Amino acid sequence: MARVFNWQINREMDYPYEHAPPAKQFAAVFDINKCIACQTCTMACKNTWTAGRGQEYMLFNNVETKPYGFYPIGWDVNVLKMLGPQSWRGPTYTGKTIFEAATDGRVSVGYVPDSQDWATPNIGEDESSGAIDGGAYFTLPHPVWSFYLQRVCNHCTYPGCLAACPRKAIYKRPEDGIVLIDQERCRGYRECMRSCPFKKVMYNQVTRVAEKCIACFPRIEQGLQPYCTVTCIGRIRVNGWIHEPAKADPESPIDFLVHNRKVALPLYPQFGLGVNIYYVPPIHVPPPYLNQMFGPGVQNAIDTYRRAKDDPELLGALLLMGATPLWIDKFRVRDGIAMGFDAKGAEIIRVPLTEPLYTRPAFDATRSVYRHNIT
Ligand code: SF4
Ligand code: SF4
Repeated sequence: MARVFNWQINREMDYPYEHAPPAKQFAAVFDINKCIACQTCTMACKNTWTAGRGQEYMLFNNVETKPYGFYPIGWDVNVLKMLGPQSWRGPTYTGKTIFEAATDGRVSVGYVPDSQDWATPNIGEDESSGAIDGGAYFTLPHPVWSFYLQRVCNHCTYPGCLAACPRKAIYKRPEDGIVLIDQERCRGYRECMRSCPFKKVMYNQVTRVAEKCIACFPRIEQGLQPYCTVTCIGRIRVNGWIHEPAKADPESPIDFLVHNRKVALPLYPQFGLGVNIYYVPPIHVPPPYLNQMFGPGVQNAIDTYRRAKDDPELLGALLLMGATPLWIDKFRVRDGIAMGFDAKGAEIIRVPLTEPLYTRPAFDATRSVYRHNIT
């Protein structure tokens, strides 16, 4: 048992396991506003990591449409119900975390999904929250809405899966905070599945052990970002290192987006896991739904995001998302250009804040053709 300060809920809490902070912490920011639910990330991950026997149903990365999409069915509704009342006083969460709400000698509240719960990963896809009346027009926020939620393991600072494993088969890598399952030690008790509120541990019926997202660590070790990030069509993702708020590095893209501009927020911070995947909330969705999902910083994040066009640094950080397969250690914005640097300080990418505009003549004399689109 450790007594820890969880900055995402702005208070101390009990974590029912030892807590050894890693030297660095893997993290990512996903900009929900840019996702088109093409599922390229899902397929990239599937083809790379879960193409084997017993893995047919597994999607370490999935993208579900909120409010009616879930994989597995009802995962967040079920956990929110088990958690009981959740309230915030300013930035401080005054309800219980999944660890504090535990009963019956377990480390956390939770449940193991039925096998059928995993059978419809695209249920609710593209369904909106209600019917749209004739003559309706677009407003912000909009009374009828939907958005895409990209989900991977959060490589939590206080992982529920790790705390619950009776075999100590789950560990958090000291060098980068990535949470892994030792396949040799696992005996398939599924306590990790019960205790992960995000249901991001999956059971292989053939090998009879649990499996989960490994954050593409072999790529990270080579200075590359994970496949779900680099294949993303909408360029909504960026990976990097995150620090505690007091040690935030404003040149780290993740620290900048999470701590400096506070435009990216943790998913269900009230669970108490200290998640390390952050989301720019969708600007068209009514804040009450988003407050439950991302905590009390939603309105501020939306306001800041909408001002990005007047904030070159923020614009630069957002434009570097998906701009390079390489791991961006630091970034800077100078003279209208956003630049990314690797761990050795070498420049690896530059992106203009404003795309140059070229106007071509309507008639191309070389080819003897007229152009319809000349800019
Ligand atoms: S999201 Fe779930 S599987 Fe991933 S580290 Fe957190 S508790 Fe474990
Ligand atoms: S590849 Fe990118 S845009 Fe497509 S579904 Fe995945 S996160 Fe969304």
